[in-house]
Amino acid sequence: MQKFDTIIIGAGAAGLFCAAQLGQAGKKVAVLDSGKKIGRKILMSGGGFCNFTNLEIGAGNYLSQNPHFVKSALSRYTQWDFIALVASYGIRYHEKELGQLFCDESSQQIVDLLQAECDKGNVEIFLRQAVISVEKFAKDFKISTASEEFQAEHLVIATGGLSMPALGASPFGYQIAEQFGIPVVAPRASLVPFTWKESDKFFTELSGIAIPITVSANGKSFSNQMLFTHRGLSGPAILQISNYWELGGTVEIDLLPSNSIVDMLNEFRQSSAKLQLKTVLARYFPKKLVDIWLDQKLLADKVIADLSKKELTFLEQFIHHWQFLPNGTEGYRTAEVTKGGVDTNYISSKTMEAKNVERLYFIGEVLDVTGWLGGYNFQWAWSSAFACAAGIIEK
Ligand code: FAD
Repeated sequence: MQKFDTIIIGAGAAGLFCAAQLGQAGKKVAVLDSGKKIGRKILMSGGGFCNFTNLEIGAGNYLSQNPHFVKSALSRYTQWDFIALVASYGIRYHEKELGQLFCDESSQQIVDLLQAECDKGNVEIFLRQAVISVEKFAKDFKISTASEEFQAEHLVIATGGLSMPALGASPFGYQIAEQFGIPVVAPRASLVPFTWKESDKFFTELSGIAIPITVSANGKSFSNQMLFTHRGLSGPAILQISNYWELGGTVEIDLLPSNSIVDMLNEFRQSSAKLQLKTVLARYFPKKLVDIWLDQKLLADKVIADLSKKELTFLEQFIHHWQFLPNGTEGYRTAEVTKGGVDTNYISSKTMEAKNVERLYFIGEVLDVTGWLGGYNFQWAWSSAFACAAGIIEK
């Protein structure tokens, strides 16, 4: 039996960052992970360049049943703190759009940073050690893998969500929560593409085409690119709204957010009334999309002078208020995150300690905290890990 002050389950962003803080404060720390490498999701993130934080971080960028939960941790370890750490390692980065910061070279640099921070604190990392059980005794936790047993005063669960099972995702963190009487908000795939209903599958011909849109659902709107795919709709605007979409509901898509289709057609009707509707639309949309609308008889093939008031009203609805009903999502296979997770009402927002189980902590994505696309999920990993480490150090 190996003894430590703290055992952290999960060598992802949150687990490694927490371990480094504790180790550097002189604590004897071990991190256990089922994989053969640390930080597997970090390596995949941001298309290989890791969108490690965002210049604009606030509670409004996160979803949780308790929307105030993130505030304390985010203010204690901010994006500026992590940016300073990245800069101290000489890692060059750039803003891609909307405050999103990416490494110039590779995600590997963030993994190397975390490894170096853990080394500074003499953190012991045990790989290929899937934890199979946890027991709590009066003073300690006993943590068992198939081949080893560990003992620790503090236990930190940093096992992430369910997205990307190929990268080690497991429901273990939720099982531990339930074992200790902590509810789990039903998890579901999020930041995830939508799939076509059978009746919309003619759109697959547009696969690969991207257009700027504004998409809305449940009181939230995002303006960014939408990508047609073989399976459905993707792209940053769609991934963002998937956080807010409810199964069975529609999302409203404005296909021409920067112009009013009716104003535009009225102007053309004054100057060039003989133009075909499809010719006008092809100035604003990919021709393939306009062709599909006509093929499917979604739009009339006529000159704009002949459009009736009713047809103009229809066009206004069709272009600016497309009620898209997804069949569903692509699920955990491609989702960037898991919405839902360990109920934050049962966790201290200051230290991430379970309110009902002393010295048991949950950090990162395993919690019911879901960030927007754009570096928010990693910032939550850093901030929640820091709050947890500070809580353990202060005990
Ligand atoms: P994870 O990083 O998921 O780590 C959990 C670890 O726990 C894993 O290593 C797993 O092997 C281990 N584990 C699970 N169960 C056990 C067990 N029983 N025993 C031992 N070990 C176990 N977010 C951003 O902010 N910016 C991005 O650019 C970005 N890009 C992404 C790209 C992709 C493809 C994906 C899938 C996600 C992306 N995200 C991004 C989201 C981000 O990666 C996660 O929110 C973040 O990694 C969560 O960190 P975590 O430490 O909580 O969990």
